[in-house]
Amino acid sequence: MSRRWRLVLAGVVAVVLAAISVVASVQLLKHPVDIKPPEQISLLVVPVGVAGDESSLPDESVLLALIEGLRQSLDIEYAIAEPYALPNTLLNRETGQLRVDLALSDVAQRYRRSGYFRVLGVTARDITIPNYSFLFGLADRRGFACVMSVHRLGWGADEELARERTAKIALHEVGHTLGRGHTPDTKSVMAYSDSLSGLDESGSRFTPLDVSIILTKIPELAGKIIAAEPVDADE
Ligand SMILES: [Zn+2]
Repeated sequence: MSRRWRLVLAGVVAVVLAAISVVASVQLLKHPVDIKPPEQISLLVVPVGVAGDESSLPDESVLLALIEGLRQSLDIEYAIAEPYALPNTLLNRETGQLRVDLALSDVAQRYRRSGYFRVLGVTARDITIPNYSFLFGLADRRGFACVMSVHRLGWGADEELARERTAKIALHEVGHTLGRGHTPDTKSVMAYSDSLSGLDESGSRFTPLDVSIILTKIPELAGKIIAAEPVDADE
């Protein structure tokens, strides 16, 4: 082969390799879930919408506020997934609310092999399950995924309050995935609430008891899960 042809061939090989690497990086961008190092304890926040309803996706500012809130109690890694739309067959036909039990199965199935420690789906659509008028969130008892709605939390009105409520529900649902049930202690974020007033009265952080229960189930969170400072009884 002449020297000239060898140069042309080398050039062709280089172009083909460059094309392959472009295709590979596009693939990686399309599947950000697959490239996370699995050794980190990471929570993936997934914006979940409903097909044909733009307003069902939460704003990024809401997701960032939510993560900022979670960080106060869970010192782990956070990532935000590409938004995705659920089919509108998952809506309650009469009320138009999203069936969060079905949404939860979908989110769990989609991300189960992603390498993330936990997944939190967040929608701006109102959510419910049969026989309930609405829910703030729902968690997978098997401990991988949870889904919450910011629909009723006052975004667009009192943003400070909305931020606080969003962080509380996120931590509450994630707390369920960490094996913590409800507590009668209203100073805890794990207190049950089915109204905004109940939510506003409950604590925004884990108590030392919540933390110790979670750590018996998930010891690898030692040093990464933070309780609120106990409040002095005289105050
Ligand atoms: Zn709960």
